[in-house]
Amino acid sequence: MSIPVLRFAPSPTGALHLGSALSALLAHDAAGRLGGRFLLRIEDTDTTRCRPEYETAILDELAWLGLTWEQPVRRQSDHFADYRSAAARLAELGLLYPCTCSRTQIAATVAALDTPDRPWPRDPDGTPLYPGTCRPRDPADVDPERVEDGAQALRLDMARAVERAGPLAWTEYGDAFYAPGFDICGSGARIPADPAAWGDIVLCRKETPTSYHLSVVCDDALQGVTHVTRGRDLYEATAIHRLLQKLLGLPEPAYAHHRLLTGADGRKLSKTGRDTGIGSLREDGATPADIRRMVGLAAGDAAG
Ligand code: GLU
Repeated sequence: MSIPVLRFAPSPTGALHLGSALSALLAHDAAGRLGGRFLLRIEDTDTTRCRPEYETAILDELAWLGLTWEQPVRRQSDHFADYRSAAARLAELGLLYPCTCSRTQIAATVAALDTPDRPWPRDPDGTPLYPGTCRPRDPADVDPERVEDGAQALRLDMARAVERAGPLAWTEYGDAFYAPGFDICGSGARIPADPAAWGDIVLCRKETPTSYHLSVVCDDALQGVTHVTRGRDLYEATAIHRLLQKLLGLPEPAYAHHRLLTGADGRKLSKTGRDTGIGSLREDGATPADIRRMVGLAAGDAAG
C-alpha cells in the first residue's frame, strides 16, 4: 500500500482558532500513527481577504502546538497557472460559461422568482441557486483574459457536468484513523454525492483564475493527498470535489469530516473570537496540552 498523505489547508483570512487547530491536529496525529506524510498548504487565492500576517501567525501557532510538516509549503497564490489550465480543460469540454451578473443582479432575479408558494431552491449552505441568467451564453465566449480583468466569472454548467460524470460517491473514512467521537459517518462508508444541489457554481471568480473548489481538487491531486481531513462544514462541498475530480481525471482521495467545535453560545467558532483563538489562548497562559484537551483530544494522542 502506498504511504498515506494527509494535509492541513488553512486560508489565511484570520487567526487559527480551536476548530482549525482540531483539523490540523487530527490530520497530523493520523499521519504520525500511520507512518504517513503530513503537508501544509496555504489556500490564499482570495487575495482580497488573505493577509500575510495571518499566514505568519498560523505557521507560528502550528509549530507551537508541536506540529511539523514537509517543506516547501505550497502556497496557492504561487500556482495560478495550474488552476488556469484545469479551467481550460473544463472549458474545452464545453462545461463552463461566462457570467457577467453582479451579486445585486442575481439577488434581484432570485427575489422575483422566490414566492411563498414556490420558494426558490437553495444550496446546502442556504444560498439561493444561481438563476441561470447567463447559461444560454455560448461556452465559446469563455475568455480567461476577461476573467482576470474582472469582466466575467466562469460558471460550471452543472446539468451538463453531472451528465458527463455519471453517478458519484466518496468514501468517508472516519474512525479508521481517528479517536472515537470525531467522525460523523463511520468507517469506510460510501456516501452518494449530489453536486447538482449546488447549481451552477462559480469555478473562476472575477479577477481570479480559480475558486476554492477548483484549487482544492487540483492541489490534493498534485500533492498526492490520499486522506482529506476537514470540518463538517465542508461535507456537502465534497460532492463538488468528486465531480471535478471525475471531470478532470484526477484520483479520488478518502475524506474525513470531523465534528465542528462550537462556542459557549452554540455557534460555529469565528476567526476573531478571543476566547477561542490559539494566539490569544497562548498569551493567556494555555499550553499546547491545554489546547489538545480543549478540542477534545487526549494529550497522549499526539503522534510521536
Ligand atoms: N482552506 C479551507 C478552509 O480554511 C479548507 C479546505 C479543505 O480542507 O479542503 O476552510
